[in-house]
Amino acid sequence: MRIARFTTGEDPQYGVVTGELDEFGQPDEDAVVVALAGDPLYVGMKLLDQEHQLSDVRLLAPVLPRSKVVGIGRNYAAHAAEMGNDVPAEPLMFLKPNTSVVGPGDPIFYPPQTSNLHFEGELAVVIGRICRDVPPEQATDVIHGYTIANDVTARDLQKGDVQFTRAKGFDSFCPLGPWIETDLDPQHFADGVRVQTFLNGDLKQDGSTADLIFDVPTLVSYVSSVMTLLPGDVILTGTPEGVGPMEVGDEVEISIAGLGTLTNKVAQR
Ligand code: MG
Repeated sequence: MRIARFTTGEDPQYGVVTGELDEFGQPDEDAVVVALAGDPLYVGMKLLDQEHQLSDVRLLAPVLPRSKVVGIGRNYAAHAAEMGNDVPAEPLMFLKPNTSVVGPGDPIFYPPQTSNLHFEGELAVVIGRICRDVPPEQATDVIHGYTIANDVTARDLQKGDVQFTRAKGFDSFCPLGPWIETDLDPQHFADGVRVQTFLNGDLKQDGSTADLIFDVPTLVSYVSSVMTLLPGDVILTGTPEGVGPMEVGDEVEISIAGLGTLTNKVAQR
């Protein structure tokens, strides 16, 4: 099931997106959104007798993390190598503030403090319930679903600062969407799902989740051994090789097979 957050010009609502995705992750023309009574993370799945054509609504970030977005660095060996880093012995965690989250179609703002702004296409895990010290074999029980993220990074600031807060923490540095897919499980991603990033239509990243050094259950377990996870918290699983710069006016599309496509443009801040 694909759960979106959307607006028709009124207050944001949640809804279930119907229809099939084409090979580019785009929904078919007659896809509709069936509205839900509130956020299913908190009130469960209550379908309303109200639907809209998907093309008539504006999709918003499918989740607003109340506490945190947890990033994982260097989780694909080829990406660690392209950045001149070794593969970490344990997951490398960092935090992005929840104020960095924006939705599909929202601008990524290019801050004046950087001159090297990079895209990082990533699989994102949305947590469904409060949890701590989750064993890997129980990770599925605490996962609400999966979406797509762009872990936008000011590469020059990342290299200059000791830690990643500024480089990855600006407003608009965490586009999420287009919706949350709740029917997949970690094995689906362990088997290998393509993660592709296109810049102005040119393929820049073409990875597979089979190449994750630490898989989804390991990440949920590891992060939850450090900090309590709350419903709506998001874990970014790391980016494959091929990261690169974006300029003002560029359009970035991240596609994950079966999940859809997240599209954002870069704008001057
Ligand atoms: Mg990243």
